[in-house]
Amino acid sequence: MNARVLCIEDDQDIALAVSMVLRRAGFDVVGATDGKEGLRSFHDERPDVVLLDLGLPTLDGWAVLERIRDLSDVPVMLLTAHGLEADKVRGLSMGADDYLTKPFGNAELVARVQALLRRNRSARPEAEVYQDALIELNFGSREVRVGGEPVALTPSEFRLLAALIRHAGQTLSADQLLEQAWSDPLRIGPERVKFAVMRLRRKLSQGDGDGTPIEAIRGFGYRYVVPADRRQPPDDRRLGPVDRRQPRAASSPSGRSESDRS
Ligand code: CA
Repeated sequence: MNARVLCIEDDQDIALAVSMVLRRAGFDVVGATDGKEGLRSFHDERPDVVLLDLGLPTLDGWAVLERIRDLSDVPVMLLTAHGLEADKVRGLSMGADDYLTKPFGNAELVARVQALLRRNRSARPEAEVYQDALIELNFGSREVRVGGEPVALTPSEFRLLAALIRHAGQTLSADQLLEQAWSDPLRIGPERVKFAVMRLRRKLSQGDGDGTPIEAIRGFGYRYVVPADRRQPPDDRRLGPVDRRQPRAASSPSGRSESDRS
């Protein structure tokens, strides 16, 4: 199957040239001419690479980049205007993988897209694992364990939990969760979030009703509270604050029994 490129660019001449060149090089190309359409295509088409112009109608390239990065690690190459050096630095710091300054040559465009695809493929195997005193979540294999026991989550429940954990300690609104867990840029139906959170809490609670790490913040949304931070079991205190991206020794007794008396 051909790799799929999404090109979000409002300049018709550039968009046409990009799509011709990439198609000739064997890519499938999907085009979008403004930011909102671009995000919608991103959700619908699941591209392998995104080419992103920064000056776009309806939603500018920065906002599009931020939302894509919240959702996925797909390689993003910015199409930047000549002379705007600051854009490149800002773009890379926001998680873009590469940039191409307009006007660019056909051969360079093809070579850079191919390089991004190669880089992405070789980066895949290192799956990220999150672990705290209660939950172990593998972002790559999508396996979740609660207190060491595997738990079956639906894809949207998994994405909901992953979004909350990636932003542990921060409150996410229903809108933000809809966008991140349901791939819904139009954010229809915030009640879906409420019910999914209820189901997720039940699955994470291990029958221990108030053991849930997902807190509802009334009027604002939901947040993931790292269990070790909240409970501070004596055994864990000397480990210091839990680094949320750092896997801990799997054999740790985790101190849960200390705080399960309620
Ligand atoms: Ca533009």
